[in-house]
Amino acid sequence: MDSIIVRERVRVGSVCVMGFTLIVGAAVLSCRGEEPAKAAVGEGQQQQWHVHDRSRPQPPVVTPPTPSTQEKAGEAPSDAVVLFDGKDLSQWVDKTGKGEPKWKVENGYFEVAKGTGQISTKEGFGDCQLHVEWMAPNPPKGKDQDRGNSGIFLMSRYELQVLDNYKAETYADGMAGAIYGQYPPQVNATRPPGEWQVYDVVFHAPRFNEDGSVKEPARETVFLNGLLVQDDVPLKGATAHMTLAKYAKHADKMPITLQDHGHPVRYRNIWIRPIAAEKPVAPVMAGERH
Ligand code: MG
Repeated sequence: MDSIIVRERVRVGSVCVMGFTLIVGAAVLSCRGEEPAKAAVGEGQQQQWHVHDRSRPQPPVVTPPTPSTQEKAGEAPSDAVVLFDGKDLSQWVDKTGKGEPKWKVENGYFEVAKGTGQISTKEGFGDCQLHVEWMAPNPPKGKDQDRGNSGIFLMSRYELQVLDNYKAETYADGMAGAIYGQYPPQVNATRPPGEWQVYDVVFHAPRFNEDGSVKEPARETVFLNGLLVQDDVPLKGATAHMTLAKYAKHADKMPITLQDHGHPVRYRNIWIRPIAAEKPVAPVMAGERH
């Protein structure tokens, strides 16, 4: 087996060279054929791997979510933080940040109570996968932005618009699926008012330098009803109305906030999965024979 490993490494010498330049002592040793590449790594160094390396840790086992229907919300995946399971708003606080939300909970959903203000999660989140289902009021009432308007504010400041623009006009960067005031959705994938709609979001929080300047902007990918509407877009800053968005430095984790825009929009089946801080690592050495 050893001789096979060595031969493999010689054959892919260029890959080994990459290992030298990229990082670790372990990779260097393995290129010489002296030791396997699974040696311990030092502080601040990332473990390197062979292609098909069987010592590479297995990912955790997770039970996937079950799909929702119009009649019934699905189940969250087993590793999610469930923010609303159809029963109560115990994971949320009102606009003061301290009181219980006044929004109405019934029949497995909750509904914006006009004039009571936004609600926010008790817990803060940074990089995450977020699942939210929502329904615009039926029969529809009003027009343009005054029609089934709410919103999902990542980190309490970056709005993914919730709106009834099904066969109803509004400006493009204010439609459902828009990063409000920044990016229109790639398509208008809305369902009629009175039907449940689904957002699946991948969000990466912005990174800031010590002086408050932006090191990396927030990035967001959004699926609306299973269709891609935002593809890893870099956010320009916190949501603003009639003016350009800009950033102000904030904490690494902030609550999710839902907007009270005065319309009885409903929500159900909300869950979130923080994204691992560690960046994925590609193998830098050819595979061992197994
Ligand atoms: Mg809104």
